[in-house]
This record gives sequence, structure tokens and C-alpha cells, in this order.
Amino acid sequence: EGGGAMAAAGSGRPGPAALALLGLLPGAPTCPHGPALLFVKTSQGKEEGRRFYACSACRDRKDCNFFQWEDEKVSETRLAAREEYNRNHQPSFTHRQNVDRYKNFVLLPLSKRRFCQECQQLLLPAEWEEHSDHQFLCDITTAQLKSPSQLLHPLENKKTNAQYLFADRSCQFLLNLLIDLGFRRVLSVGTPRLHEMIQSKASQEEFSVRSLLLDIDFRYSQFYTEDEFCHYNMFNHHFFGGEAAHETCRKFLSEENGERVIMVTDPPFGGLVEALASSFKKLMAMWKETEKEGHDYKEMPMFWIFPYFFESRILDFFPSFSMMDYQVDYDNHALYKHGKTGRRQSPVRIFTNLTPSMIVLPEEEGYRFCTVCQRYVSSGNQHCEICNSCTSKDGRRWKHCVLCKKCVKPSWFHCDSCKCCTLQKHSCEKRDVGCFVCGEAGHKRSACPSLSRT
Ligand code: SAH
Ligand code: ZN
Ligand code: ZN
Ligand code: ZN
Ligand code: ZN
Repeated sequence: EGGGAMAAAGSGRPGPAALALLGLLPGAPTCPHGPALLFVKTSQGKEEGRRFYACSACRDRKDCNFFQWEDEKVSETRLAAREEYNRNHQPSFTHRQNVDRYKNFVLLPLSKRRFCQECQQLLLPAEWEEHSDHQFLCDITTAQLKSPSQLLHPLENKKTNAQYLFADRSCQFLLNLLIDLGFRRVLSVGTPRLHEMIQSKASQEEFSVRSLLLDIDFRYSQFYTEDEFCHYNMFNHHFFGGEAAHETCRKFLSEENGERVIMVTDPPFGGLVEALASSFKKLMAMWKETEKEGHDYKEMPMFWIFPYFFESRILDFFPSFSMMDYQVDYDNHALYKHGKTGRRQSPVRIFTNLTPSMIVLPEEEGYRFCTVCQRYVSSGNQHCEICNSCTSKDGRRWKHCVLCKKCVKPSWFHCDSCKCCTLQKHSCEKRDVGCFVCGEAGHKRSACPSLSRT
């Protein structure tokens, strides 16, 4: 019950017992992470399942154990206790206070600039005492303050808020790409490293790109003003800073001076695609509502960075999107980082509503343009004459199966008794529907190895 709802929900596939997301309802109860989401738990043979609310942001009950049956009567006392709990679980400093603290911090000589590693907080001299038995870093330079993603340790909680930071090469590629496409404003949703790259360039040279970071990681409020960072939950479109923060975002999205906006997002992979899609549609609507002299685009341009095996789920919600072959690499990712001994293939891709032919991928990394498909593809991705498309999803060369009438992974074989292509090693009787996330048999979505990134 309760926490952990996110791990299991979202497949939409009827199973013996299933969890499905019903979404964000007006009047939903709130936890410290904003309005809770409504889920339904169905058990086999029963038409209607019992509906309950659970935290939108946390997949692990340990992080937030909010739970309430939809039809449950909540007493006044419990409501009051909950409100108090929510208040106590807000950060100890407000964003405003953090901005003021930063101003004081930069006035300090280098020798007095300390960062508490345990509290993940910049310390002012008067606070040293309180943190005396904590580990801290000294002599925090301006360069360090400009790279908070290097200073802060990446949140590692696998289930709720694992942070996987872009490798410099991928981050640079994304930034150059969007500049070449003519964008001057970037709404960075869960992409602190991209935001940071833009911010530090903007302060150095003549550089006209601006970024607004929306992220649930409040530690970033120590380094950015209210115009640069909004504490935001992308699973329920909740702005913790209330109407003022909402307005900051709205203003950023209005394309003043003809500065075109693109949204770039790299959400946690374990999350619910439908909850993300619903929030992103709200951000798109905010963009659309801003008055301007006619948009160049019908929709707010977007890069949604996500693993390729979510392609069909993303296209369900955003039919105008297509998946690019570019493999996004990460720094703190044991599996997907670009190693010395050739590249471990990253499954992470860019989904975009921009015209695919406009997304130019680096030829020096092996990408080439397919004139039939009118898009850049991986070097291993062969154009299949029968499918009339470059069909590989994972970068390896796929093969066409005439019986299945489609291209399949190179490691698959056509099994006559199952009447489909699958791994050679499988048992025909036990036809496992397979993992919802990656399609492989033998494990469930919640245990998918593709999702545990370390
Ligand atoms: N590759 C990106 C980081 C992606 S990791 C980069 O290098 O910039 C996922 C990011 O989403 C993290 O910054 C994390 O703090 C943020 N995040 C996780 N859950 C979130 C939520 N519910 N709402 C908003 N942001 C969230
Ligand atoms: Zn401390
Ligand atoms: Zn092709
Ligand atoms: Zn086949
Ligand atoms: Zn078989």
C-alpha cells in the first residue's frame, strides 16, 4: 500500500493485480511535495479497484509515506497534523533567504568560504560552530559557485531522485544544437547541468542565451536567484514558490524581443510517463497562452531526454514527437558513460517535436544523414528496404524478419511455436508478457535493469 505506487503503476496493462494512475484531481490532498496523485489498484476478477492518493514525487515509501484512500474520511485532527507535517518538511531556508545568504557569501574572502558537505549548504562564518563536527570544503572559489552540480553531490536515491549528470560532451552538444536552431531561451526542467553551462557562459562572454531551471532539488536555490531557478515538481506541475514562481515561469516563456524558447527536460526514468506528459502539456499551454506576435511553432519546441524503450509511451502522449538516434552520455553513470575502450551504448535519446531533419548529429561520432528517412541516424542503423526506414532503436544493426514483417534486435530469432521473434533462450510454454519497460522477458517493470542506472 501507499508509497511505491509509482514503481508499479503506469503500464496500463491489465494484470492479475495492477496499479494505474488516474492523475491529478482538483482538491487532491497534499504532501510536502504538493498535491498527491490518484491511483487505482485493481485485483484480478474485480471490475473496479480501490482508489487512493499517493505522493507524486517519491517512488519509495521511505522518502514520503503519504497515503490516503479516496473515500477515506480524514478527521480535523489528522488534517491539522498533516498540515503541520507538511510545514515542517519544507526547507529550513526560503529561496529569498538563500539568495541573501549567497550575496553575503560572495563578499567573504576565500579563506572564509566554507561549504558543509553533510548539510550540502554554503556556510556563513556565524554558522561554522553548528557544523563543527561536519565535513566541509574550504576556499570555495567563484568557479565552484558557478558549477553547483560539481559542488553538490548528486542525489543518489535510486528510486526517488537519482541525479544523472550529462557528460560534458553531451551537454555541449545539446547547447550548440539549440543555439544553431536559433533558440535564445531554455526552460531547463530537471537539467541543472545544462542550466549551469548556459549560466556560466552568459556571465563570461558575449552570450545571449538565457535559462530558467525548474527542479525539485532545492539545494540549487543557494546558487540561483528567483529569476533563474524555481523549485518545481514535474510530476504534478507544482511550483513550491506559489503564484510568484508561476509568474516567473510564465514571463520567461513569453518570447519577448523575439527570443525563441525551447524546453529541455531529462526526467528520472522510473517516473510515470503519463504524469510527466500531463505536466509538460501544462508548460506547453503556459507558453501558448503568452501573448505574442504569432508563434513560429504550433507547440512549444521541446527536447525530452529519455530511454528509447519509452518511445511508444511518449508518442502516445505526444504524437508530434520523434526519437533521434543521438546517444546521450552521463558522467556519473557506471553503465552509460563513454569509456576509454570504446563506447558503452547509452539507451538515452532525444525526443523532439522539431522537424527531424533539422537535428544535425555529429558526423565525427559516426552519425550520418539518411536521405530517405530525412534524419540523422547512428552509424550502425541500416536503412531497411522492406520497412523503408532506418529501424534500429539501440544503435546496433537490426535484421528484418519476413514472418514478423518488421526489423528485430540482432540477437533475436524467429520462434515457430511462439510465432514471433524473441531471444533464442526462452521457454515457449511460459510466455511471459515481458517487462513493460524494455520488453524483455524474465523480470517486471519495477526490477528492470534498464532503469537502475548504476
Ligand atoms: N542530465 C541532467 C540531470 C538529470 S537527473 C543534467 O545533467 O542536467 C534528473 C533531474 O530531475 C535531477 O536534477 C533531479 O533533481 C530532477 N528531478 C527529480 N525528480 C523531480 C521532480 N519530481 N520534479 C522536478 N525535478 C525532479
Ligand atoms: Zn553541516
Ligand atoms: Zn533510413
Ligand atoms: Zn520474426
Ligand atoms: Zn518459443
